[in-house]
Amino acid sequence: MKVLLTGGSGFIAAHVVDILLEHGHEVITTVRSQEKADKIKSAHPKAGSNLDFRIVEDIAQENAFDKAVQSLPGLEAVIHTASPFHFNVTDTKKDLLDPAIIGTTGILKAIKAHAPSVKHVVITSSFASIVDGSKGTRPGHTYSEKDWNPVTLEEAVQNPSNGYRASKTFAEKAAWEFLEKEKPNFTVATMCPPLVLGPIVHYLNSLDGLNTSNQRVRNLITGQNKKEIPDTGTYIWVDVRDLALAHVKAIEIPEAANKRFFITAGYFTNKEVCEIIRKNFPEYESELPGKEIKGGDYPEGGLYKYDNSRVVEVLGIKFRTLEESIVDLVKSLKSVGA
Ligand code: NDP
Repeated sequence: MKVLLTGGSGFIAAHVVDILLEHGHEVITTVRSQEKADKIKSAHPKAGSNLDFRIVEDIAQENAFDKAVQSLPGLEAVIHTASPFHFNVTDTKKDLLDPAIIGTTGILKAIKAHAPSVKHVVITSSFASIVDGSKGTRPGHTYSEKDWNPVTLEEAVQNPSNGYRASKTFAEKAAWEFLEKEKPNFTVATMCPPLVLGPIVHYLNSLDGLNTSNQRVRNLITGQNKKEIPDTGTYIWVDVRDLALAHVKAIEIPEAANKRFFITAGYFTNKEVCEIIRKNFPEYESELPGKEIKGGDYPEGGLYKYDNSRVVEVLGIKFRTLEESIVDLVKSLKSVGA
């Protein structure tokens, strides 16, 4: 298939590129600069004409994707991963909400207007659009694709964490509304992962410029948590390679059409991550919090359950273990200087 992937420089997208190429697809990915395109290109010497690029500098601009989409006759599928995931926010609307929402509606409008050959669109949403943060760890509740985060615009601007969760919720809602109102020729599937862990690609990353979800592991191995293990926050996770495969399968498997996928491998805590590093990388012992250090454990009052059956049944995803994910992540962090 000829596939357009947005945000090819991202942590998750880098793995989507690899799996699309492995599955024999032709990949065109958007990046913000030629420099990023060159780095990705030179890391895939065998891809040849199966890997190409379009520059889209800012997805928050209306019509940002029009030129890229217009330039790709015969396009069959689109995977939209680009969206800000960070908490360095001065203006929630400008920094988080606009790129998430306008980015999502912008790509859908561009496909409808200029690419009638597109059959399937997959959008990276998040557990952020499922979880109700106001209910805490919510013992007794089982989260599934049926749940929606009830966050409001008023709450969104209260702090960066609310802002990020709202950006994902509003963007995903906008996608489903677009599908209902515009009745385009293509189907939509959304991926809702919680914390995504796993190896980074060395050609795009540095320890300082690390993507948000892996920062907790970098902090552990660089001695930043020696006095206390931080709160785990989100207690469910998925490996980036399993998530990337789910994105690709969602354009390949017809039954994925028009479904939301809550994709998690299960529970984890920062304390477990710490013990996995201790066991597998004795060279980091002096940087890690000692065995007596508190924090980072499961909440005492209990925790929500999760139903990840759809992603297993429809997409056939088998989940990697936390140990495999953390070991491969730490090895990749070493390759960029940890
Ligand atoms: P990254 O920060 O690594 O990737 C984000 C991507 O979006 C980058 O390619 C970035 O480009 C691009 N981007 C952000 N803002 C803009 C903009 N205004 N204009 C153009 N491009 C932009 O994060 P992840 O790979 O982790 O995230 C990818 C997706 O997955 C996001 O939609 C995120 O919300 C979602 N997600 C991630 C989770 C996680 O734990 N990692 C969990 C749940 C969902 P550049 O690199 O040039 O800045």
